[in-house]
Amino acid sequence: MVANPKLLFPHDAAQSNPATTVATAAATAASTSGKLLTVENLSLEYRTRERIVRATHDISFDVYGGDRFVLLGPSGCGKSTLLKAVAGFIEPSAGSISLDGQRVRGPGADRIVVFQEFDQLPPWKTVVQNIAFPLRVAKKLSKAQAHERALYYLDKVGLAAFANAYPHTLSGGMKQRVAIARALAMQPRVLLMDEPFAALDALTRRKMQEELLRLWEEVRFTLLFVTHSIEEALVVGNRILLLSPHPGRVRAELNSHQYSQDSFGRADFQRSVARIHHLLFEPTEAVQ
Ligand code: ADP
Ligand code: MG
Repeated sequence: MVANPKLLFPHDAAQSNPATTVATAAATAASTSGKLLTVENLSLEYRTRERIVRATHDISFDVYGGDRFVLLGPSGCGKSTLLKAVAGFIEPSAGSISLDGQRVRGPGADRIVVFQEFDQLPPWKTVVQNIAFPLRVAKKLSKAQAHERALYYLDKVGLAAFANAYPHTLSGGMKQRVAIARALAMQPRVLLMDEPFAALDALTRRKMQEELLRLWEEVRFTLLFVTHSIEEALVVGNRILLLSPHPGRVRAELNSHQYSQDSFGRADFQRSVARIHHLLFEPTEAVQ
């Protein structure tokens, strides 16, 4: 464990850069609702016939309203399992998850997940139907209301012209935009994203990260985002929880609101990448 990981980023404290002040002020405004999601001493296990696999061990963190909170760690450290537990698909073997002070006991429309896979949209529904359908079922909206809200969020992700297209006619990036619009249209308390851009080519991935930040500026949702990419975590997140390799434990928690798409290649950004890499991998290698 690092004694005070936040000190790794000394410029966090100053917050003098005007480019970050806007985002910080906005995050503060959005966080007036306070603590939204609380994960306490959470351990998660898979029980197979032969053995028990411990996916995460004793994880604790808080997400505040308006946060872009990133779970970052190597493949297999339990990120997806953690996200599924927050979504209510997996029960804790120890510890607890609370949303707005209420214990999470199963899935709910207040937590919507966007996955990595491009095939998360039913192929027999058009784009607008894909977004409207869950609104009718879970939110009990009328057909007209659901359609209107679907078109609103489709426009937000720049796909208004594709409302009547079928998913198979769209590129991977466009399908992910539809999945994001569908999730946001549900107006969840927390939007959960599990490596949503990992299967995209590098350029599209960058573009999607940029669009996600622009959407956040506009809509101000609370995001819990999983990735194994250090660069993506720094760009997308305002706070990052670093998880150690299997089973995932909290290694450090960092602030990263000062970074954006423009930070790529900058010296301080590269230094942060190197520090996080060191935190994630070096201590474990030393032990092995
Ligand atoms: P990550 O998303 O960080 O790559 P996962 O949450 O998918 O990690 O997996 C964490 C650990 O749990 C891994 O060791 C993985 O093999 C194991 N695991 C994941 N899903 C299952 C399952 N359905 N049954 C048994 N073990 C699983
Ligand atoms: Mg995963």
